Amino acid sequence: MSSRRAIQLGVAAAMLIAAGALFVRWQSATGRNVDFPEGTLWVCADAACAAEFSKSLKELAAFYDANPDGEMPCPRCGKPGAERALRCPACKRAFARSAVRHGKATCPLCKQPLPPVAPG
Ligand SMILES: [Zn+2]
Ligand SMILES: [Zn+2]
Repeated sequence: MSSRRAIQLGVAAAMLIAAGALFVRWQSATGRNVDFPEGTLWVCADAACAAEFSKSLKELAAFYDANPDGEMPCPRCGKPGAERALRCPACKRAFARSAVRHGKATCPLCKQPLPPVAPG
């Protein structure tokens, strides 16, 4: 192998690595993936407030990094303990995921049947 050829290969490899790093950076910068197109949905623990808010996966990771046992605070009233939420496809409102138990797949707000809830 000539040294010229080796240099060309080296440049090509470096470009591939740079492109890969850029792609990973772009992915984490957007903080989205196919499972959570709008980030993760949350609803305030206080029914009187019931604020809905979303956190990107990146924001979520940063929050848990800073608060390992932390309870997610509500951005409107500041109360901790916001719950992961689901959005009802019928009424478009968010409700705590814990409100939907197995076998009871109806929206607690409008009582419409829900599509199957993914575990986790
Ligand atoms: Zn609140
Ligand atoms: Zn509903």
